[in-house]
Amino acid sequence: MKLKVTFFLLFAVLITVAQKNTTYIHAGHLLDSKKGIWQDKMTVIIIDNQISKIEKGYVNPMKTAAYHDLKDKWVMPGFTDMHVHMETEYNPHAYVQKYVDDPADVAYDSVNYAEITLMSGFTTVRDLGGSGINISLRDAINKGKVPGPRIYTAGKSIATTGGHADPTNGSNQKLMGDPGPREGVANSPAEGRAAVRHRYKNGADCIKITATGGVLSVAKNGSNPQFTVEEIKAITEAANDYGFHVAAHAHGDEGMYRAVEGGVKTIEHGTYMSEKTMKLMIEKDCYLVPTITAGKEVAQKAEVEGFYPAIVVPKARTVGPQIQGTFARAYKKGVPIVFGTDAGVFAHGQNAKEFGYMNEAGMPVMETLQTATIVPAKILKLEDKIGQLKKGFYADIIAVSENPEKNVAILEKVNFVMKDGVVYKE
Ligand SMILES: [Zn+2]
Repeated sequence: MKLKVTFFLLFAVLITVAQKNTTYIHAGHLLDSKKGIWQDKMTVIIIDNQISKIEKGYVNPMKTAAYHDLKDKWVMPGFTDMHVHMETEYNPHAYVQKYVDDPADVAYDSVNYAEITLMSGFTTVRDLGGSGINISLRDAINKGKVPGPRIYTAGKSIATTGGHADPTNGSNQKLMGDPGPREGVANSPAEGRAAVRHRYKNGADCIKITATGGVLSVAKNGSNPQFTVEEIKAITEAANDYGFHVAAHAHGDEGMYRAVEGGVKTIEHGTYMSEKTMKLMIEKDCYLVPTITAGKEVAQKAEVEGFYPAIVVPKARTVGPQIQGTFARAYKKGVPIVFGTDAGVFAHGQNAKEFGYMNEAGMPVMETLQTATIVPAKILKLEDKIGQLKKGFYADIIAVSENPEKNVAILEKVNFVMKDGVVYKE
C-alpha cells in the first residue's frame, strides 16, 4: 500500500515536471543592470514565467526545451516606463472625443496602445491617469486576455476644482457640474483622503495628483500651485495607509516644492524646478520623472495650426522646450531620476526616444538603461521581480541588434520581446 502511494506521488511529480515549460536563450551580450556592465556569451534558462538560472557560456538546451538564438543581440531586462496614459493618444480631435467616445471605445483603443507598448520593449508601465478603464485593462492583461505590459495604475488622477485633472475642464456650463472626490476632485484634506480611498476601492495601485496647472488642460495657467501643503500631506498619509506611493504632476516650482514637502515619491515633468526644490528632493529621496519626449512633442505640435485649442498653444510653446534643460540641471545636481515619458501625449510605442534625449542632456546611456530597469523596480517595490535578469525574476526579456552604448537610437528598434516567459516578438 505504502509503495503504491510512493509510486503515485513519484508519477505526479514527474507529470508536473514534464508540464513545466523550459526555455533556453543564448545571449551574445547580456546586461547586468545592477553593475551596469555587459556579460558576453551567456545562457538564460527560463522555467514557465521565471528565470531559473543564468550560466556562463552557451549551455546546450535540453531536447524538450524551447530555444531562442540571441547570440548576435544585446539582451536586457524589459523596460519600465513610469509615466504613460494607456487610455488615450493625443490628436486634434481629443478634446471632442471625450464627449463622443463611450467607455467601450476607450477600452478598445487602450487594448491597442497596450500591445504597441509591449512590442516596443516596455514590459512594465505605471499609468498616471485615465478614467479608470486602465484598471480593467491591467486586469485583462494579467488574466492573459489581451497582450500588454504589467500595469501599475493610478486609476483617475486627483485634482482641485478647475485643476489640471478636473475631468470637466473646458466643458460647457451644463456639462461642468461639480465633481467630487469620487471623480478625482478634492478641495480639502478630508476630500483628499476620501479621493484616495475611492481609488483604493476602485482597485488602483498608486496615486497621482496634479500639484500645478498643466499644458494640455483647457485652462489658462500651466504652472500655478493647485493644492495646499495640508491637502497634499493628507493625500500622501492616506495613500501610505493603503501601501500606495504618490506621483505629482508639476511644472511650476511653488506647487512642486509643496508636493515634495508633502511627501510625494515622484515629480512628473519638473519643468521650472529651482535649486531649493532639487535639494529637498535629494534629501527626501524623491524622483524626477523627466518626460522629455512629451515636452519636445507638445512644443512641436503647438506650431501645427489647430492641433491644440488656442488656450493650450502658448503653454505648449513655453513649457515644452524647458523640460530637457531642467533634466540636465537636475541630473548634474544629483536629483534621483527614474525613466518616464508621458506616452499618450505622443504616440504610444515611441517611449524609447526618451533614452536618446536623456543621453543628449548628459546622462551616459548605461545610466539611462538603469533608470528604466532597477530604479523603477525599487519604487514599485518589485526589486526582487523586475529590472534584472536573475534567478527568481520574471522572464521579462528584450533584445536589440546593436550595442545601445554605441547607438542609443537602436533602443527604438527592439526586435525580441518576452514577457512572463511568453515570446511576443522575435
Ligand atoms: Zn501625464
